[in-house]
Order: sequence, then C-alpha cells, then structure tokens
Amino acid sequence: MNLNRVMKRSLLLILLMLQSACATQMAQLPCEPSACSGQNRWQESIDHIASKNFPGEEFEGVVYKDRLSNAWTTFDHRVHITEDLLDALNRAGEPHLLSVAAHEMAHIEADHFVEKATKTYMQWFKSLFDHDQYKNSARQVPGGIDPEVAAMSREHEFEADRLAVCYLQKLGLGKAEYVDFLRWMQTHLNDAPQTESASHPSFAERIARIEAMGEQSKVQPSG
Ligand SMILES: [Zn+2]
Repeated sequence: MNLNRVMKRSLLLILLMLQSACATQMAQLPCEPSACSGQNRWQESIDHIASKNFPGEEFEGVVYKDRLSNAWTTFDHRVHITEDLLDALNRAGEPHLLSVAAHEMAHIEADHFVEKATKTYMQWFKSLFDHDQYKNSARQVPGGIDPEVAAMSREHEFEADRLAVCYLQKLGLGKAEYVDFLRWMQTHLNDAPQTESASHPSFAERIARIEAMGEQSKVQPSG
C-alpha cells in the first residue's frame, strides 16, 4: 500500500467520523422514493448540470423532510436538500433550482469537504501544542467553528458561487440568473451574524463578488 493510499484512507476515516457527527446533530431522515414533493425535479436539475459539465459522473440528489431551509453536500457525490427549500425553489422557478444545485455540486468538484476536514484537524493538532493561542478559540464554544476554518469556509462559498456561474453558462444561463437566485436567498433566508466564526459570507458580499466578475471573462472550473 503506497503512502498516497494510506493518506487517502486516513482522510476517509476522518471524513466518515465528521459525517456521522453531522448526521447525529441534524437528526434528519431522507425521504423514501416519491415520499417528498419535488424529488424528481431535484434529481433532474442535478443530472442536467452533470450532463453538461461532468459527463460520466453520477450525483445522487437526496431530499429530507425538514422544515429548515438547507442544502449541503457529502464527499460521496450526494447533493442534499430539505423539502422546504426545494418547494420554495420550485415555486421560484427552474433557474433558481439549477443555481442551488450548481453551487452545491461546485463544493463537491472543488473538494471543499476534504479541504475543510483537513484544516479542522490541523487546527485541532496545533491547539495541542499551543494552548495559549488557541484557548480563546471558537473551538472551545460548543458548536463554534475555528476562525481559520471559518475563513476558509467563507472563501469556499465565494469559489462555489463562481464555479456555479461557470456551470450554468454551459446550460445557457449565467451571472444574471445566479445573482437573481442570491437575491432570492437574501430575501428568504436570514444572514448568519458576520463574526469571525461565520461559515458563510453575507449574501450582499456574495452578490457583489459575482457582479464584479467580468461579463466577458470566461471562468473555468479550477478542479
Ligand atoms: Zn455553499
């Protein structure tokens, strides 16, 4: 077994531990086939983006019966969404649904999950040797995110937005539709408080970044 494989297996173990921790925290159960509204449309949206951007790759859409509005991904190419958010996006129109799918798939394609898990464990490891620097860290607050991990997470959001626009362009959509989607999110979801432990930038910042993207610049996926 070569070193690369050992590292990948170790990372996978860490990720599985992280994922099970998240799953326990969220206590959500996926809908059985056809048990939640919009399940087919969610998979169709994901497949539409995949066919134009990642032919041959398979992504599984998973819907959860939950009143929270949330979407997220796991490293196993599954793209998760709650029924509430899916319903609202369905009503808002297809470009919105494609936008959220594109954003989540960008997190998978750019390996954000792996980067975040690695950084989280590096920070934890550093804290073992430098108690003074880390004793006031947000890590000490239950549910808190280490500021360096949070900063990385915010950059991931900007990157996922940029890549999502790129994916949408292959479908004949793009910046205008994505900004509409972010404005819709801004109206329908509350921004988390913008502290150093915030995992997401504000919607206003995200919109500004996308609007600053050159119309003529052909953005390419970075990974
Ligand atoms: Zn995101």
